[in-house]
Amino acid sequence: MSIRPQQFQKLLLSWFDRHGRKHLPWQKNKTPYRVWISEIMLQQTQVATVIPYYEQFMQHYPDLSSLAMANEDDVLHLWAGLGYYSRARNLLRAARMIIRDFAGKLPNNAEQLRQLPGIGESTAGAILSIAFNQPAAILDGNVKRVLARLHAVTQPVNDKKIETRLWELAKSYTPSRRTADYTQAIMDLGATLCTRSKPQCAACPLASHCAAHQLGIADQLPKKKSARKLPIRTSTFIILEYNGKLLLNKRPSSGIWGGLWSFPEIPGAPDLSLLRAFCRKHYQINVTTCRELESFRHTFSHYHLDIQPVVIPIRRKPAKIMEGAGQIWYNPSQPEAIGLPKPVQTIIGHWENCDDTTNTLHEAAKRSRRIGTTAASRRNGEKNL
Ligand code: SF4
Repeated sequence: MSIRPQQFQKLLLSWFDRHGRKHLPWQKNKTPYRVWISEIMLQQTQVATVIPYYEQFMQHYPDLSSLAMANEDDVLHLWAGLGYYSRARNLLRAARMIIRDFAGKLPNNAEQLRQLPGIGESTAGAILSIAFNQPAAILDGNVKRVLARLHAVTQPVNDKKIETRLWELAKSYTPSRRTADYTQAIMDLGATLCTRSKPQCAACPLASHCAAHQLGIADQLPKKKSARKLPIRTSTFIILEYNGKLLLNKRPSSGIWGGLWSFPEIPGAPDLSLLRAFCRKHYQINVTTCRELESFRHTFSHYHLDIQPVVIPIRRKPAKIMEGAGQIWYNPSQPEAIGLPKPVQTIIGHWENCDDTTNTLHEAAKRSRRIGTTAASRRNGEKNL
């Protein structure tokens, strides 16, 4: 079963004219800058999640030069909760490159766009087609799904060879006119009808040409190479609490939560001996009491992180903690505009709501005895309280 590109475009565009999304925030006052920001935010993220972040971002940085002059903390603060923070850091780097290398204008060709951090082939295609109406193809998750079903591609779509084939199909269907509408149309079809589960084939303009629908296998496609089981890591987050404020460290600019602010942490489950040694070494603090907050799991793309927060109240500010040198005392009742990853926001929420008389050192010690056979304590021959 096949469909000619012209017929595909005609069916898709007339469906778009009647049902497509035309009032998304980035479709108003369309500029290359606004399209670029939306395409970066939409990577791996759904439209409904992106909208409030996008609007807030635009209020702060309405154009390229305002973004290029921003500081990283402010940008990360606006991004907090949206995830994949390298996107925010890359936007800032790219904005500065555009000012420096491209006379302040977002390039209108694929080669230069792809020199900018955070822009791959599909994002470049989306920017060129939507912002500049150029006949450039995209292959995001929605488009992959539509094409894999249309052609009943039963091999995993994350296989390199199959991806190459899907790119060829995507390019062959992309029209030379109305490309901006076409790109929006195929993304909309994937997001609203050809959804991951329960595709609404009865309402789809492509139904009579769709091989997967005809074969009755639409909801089984696309296939992916079986995902590897994610490993689980555990980390103890140390919440040093002084006078209603919490100590946060700025993380290195690369790696997990790069450039964001988080609590000091020790790998592994809570162990009082290790906690005490850590606080003595890094802050010259003698831990006399502590309490645990609710533990929870945060999942990254490549592992699960089980987080166990432990609050350590202190009465005097340790001289070893230098504010401004990548450390701050964060006051949740008067929060500063800094980037906090979602789990840090969660911990602060738990801290604000917790009953600080529960689960004190004694409780923690009991728990610690339970977990006292950690590799670290066995190795060091330490005894827990
Ligand atoms: S007919 Fe169904 S499976 Fe095929 S493209 Fe349309 S919604 Fe997707």
